[in-house]
Formats: sequence, C-alpha cells, structure tokens
Amino acid sequence: MLLQNRAAFALGLRMYSTNVTRGPLMDTARPNSDMSEFRKAFSKAKHIAIITGAGVSVESGVPTFRGENEKWRKWQSQDLATPEAFSRNPSRVWEFYHYRREQALSKRPNAAHLAIAECEARLRKQGRSVVVITQCIDDLHRQAGSKHVLKVHGSLMETRCVSCGEVSVNKRSPICAALKDKGAPDPDVADAQIPVDKLPRCDESDCRGLLRPNVVFFGETLDSHILTKVEKEMEICDLCLVVGTSSIVYPAAMFGPQIASRGIPVAEFNTQTTPKTEYFTHHFQGPCGTTLPPALARHESEVI
Ligand SMILES: [Zn+2]
Repeated sequence: MLLQNRAAFALGLRMYSTNVTRGPLMDTARPNSDMSEFRKAFSKAKHIAIITGAGVSVESGVPTFRGENEKWRKWQSQDLATPEAFSRNPSRVWEFYHYRREQALSKRPNAAHLAIAECEARLRKQGRSVVVITQCIDDLHRQAGSKHVLKVHGSLMETRCVSCGEVSVNKRSPICAALKDKGAPDPDVADAQIPVDKLPRCDESDCRGLLRPNVVFFGETLDSHILTKVEKEMEICDLCLVVGTSSIVYPAAMFGPQIASRGIPVAEFNTQTTPKTEYFTHHFQGPCGTTLPPALARHESEVI
C-alpha cells in the first residue's frame, strides 16, 4: 500500500519531513525547467496523473481563506472547517460555506483548467488517460470539461446528512431560504444565528436531519474509497504533474513525492518553490494558467 498508516494522515496535519525516499534522478540533479525535456516525457506517457491544489482555483478568483490576509470575518478556514466548530455553531459554519459556494458558483475555469480538460479529451482518443487528483473543493475542473476527477477533500457542491449519511449533489443558490444574502465576509458583520431547523435539512422524508457540506474538515480523515482510487492511479501513472499546490497539507502533499520515489518523472507547476520541490524532476515557475497550456498542448508525435 502506498499510503501507509492512513489514520496518521488526517487533513490539516502538517509535517515537514517524510519517509519518502528520493528517486534515482533526485540524487544527482535539482529539478530542471527544461520544457523540451518535459515534453519528451509527456509524448511517451500513457497514464498521466495531475495533482492540483488551491493555486489553480485562486487564478479563477476563488478565495481559499488560508492566509493571514484572507479571512472570512475574523477567521481563517482552519478556525471554521472543523467538526467542533460545526457542532458548536452550525449557523456560522453554514454562513461561511454558503459564501464559499456562492463565490465558487460565480467563477469560471481558467486557462489551466481548460488545458487539463482539453488534454484529457484529446489523449482519451489515443487510448491514453489523464486523471485529475484535486484538493480543490470547487467544481471548476468539471466545469472545464474534465471527466476523470478525484476530489480528495470533498466538494462544496455536495451535502452530507449528519443523521443518515446521504450524500447529494446540491448546486442550489441559495441552498436554503434562511441563508439567502447571508455569509458576507466583512469583519464587522454579525452572525446570522439561524435556528438549526432553518439550516439545510435532509430531503429524505423520514430523516430531515441537519446537512453539512460534504467537505473534509480539518482533523478528519479522507474518504477511504477516494484514497483507494488515488493509490491505484499513483501506481499506474507514468508521468505526474503537481499544479498550484504548496504541498504542505497531508496526505496530498505526499502524492507527488511518492510517485517520484518510483523513478517516475514529476513536474511541479507553481508560482514559487515548495517544501517538496527538491523531490521533483521538473519545476516550472509562474501562474499555472500561463505555464500549463504549452506543457499540455498537442505534441508533434500525436497523430490523432
Ligand atoms: Zn438524512
């Protein structure tokens, strides 16, 4: 199993060292930014895994609430996206997620999303595969046309019933009447204090339980079904791209280095270097909407 001791990889657990051994390439060379060399590997790859993170969404204007300067009222997502915060104050947490849903619904895929989706469709006709393994909880990869998407941190556009466990796709705006026009992010906005029976409720008639966003909160473990699929993709891929992620939130931060440890080429596309850059074969610096399209464009060896 690639992901050993899954229980240790609860979301939000940050570690700065890993047990990953470096691939043979890594012992002799720093990652290079030679696009023609990457394109050679790209032209030969049959199974491409593209790991994406918040940076891809940020380029579409989706806020992530991770930095000190990006707060919702006076909190960052780490303060609100927890099981404890939701059970203590479901109204406030739902306001936060309602705002994030409305933001995500109003944004459009950028050049990076589109390049990935176009590449998947083109390579499928050649009998080659592209999978997107994403930490993003918005729907922009699918909106761009990507079909094969594994969302390791869940989705803003899904709900899960805390009573019966039912998971449903839900893109309603607003998600319920009581949340209409709520969730403004300004620091002086007061909590709406919506009664719990007016928050989103389960559609199952004999349930009517409280719904929560179907996202992985900090401190929760990832969906084991998704992780199993991710492991399989990591085992078969023969090229990996790590795009727009700072590679500090586990377990997703491990995926690229795990693949590199098999000697598979891994290319990082990011606005800056990350704690994992040294594990990778290639590093392309800049906005991924600029760096990714030429990397994934049709190669001269593609005949279809
Ligand atoms: Zn239910």
